[in-house]
Amino acid sequence: MTNKKPAKLSAKDLEEFKGNLGKMRAMLSGDLTQLHEEAFGQNGNHDAESKAGDTADGYYQEFNLRLMERDESTLSEVLDALERIETGAYGQCEACENAISKDRLRVMPHARMCIDCQRQAERRG
Ligand SMILES: [Zn+2]
Repeated sequence: MTNKKPAKLSAKDLEEFKGNLGKMRAMLSGDLTQLHEEAFGQNGNHDAESKAGDTADGYYQEFNLRLMERDESTLSEVLDALERIETGAYGQCEACENAISKDRLRVMPHARMCIDCQRQAERRG
């Protein structure tokens, strides 16, 4: 029964997002070769319990396309997010302090705000 906030991130979730952020950092800082190997070179490296295996390839491709443009502001967001993982603040919306959903963090591991707050911020311009 989750009638309040989205679930807090488990240690395992944090590991996953930390890994994703590490890849993003590598990619954004220009180390595309390493990322490519990690994303596409080890396809046999699925977790035994990988249920979402069929979405992984699409995820990385999308990930790549979106981030191929080396964006320094995104890089600094990613570095900040890695820091938040270390300090335990990761996954919490900076505006409303609710947990950011895991689905959102999978798409945007460096998200600072939950989707609602992000939309509001964008609407404000
Ligand atoms: Zn929020």
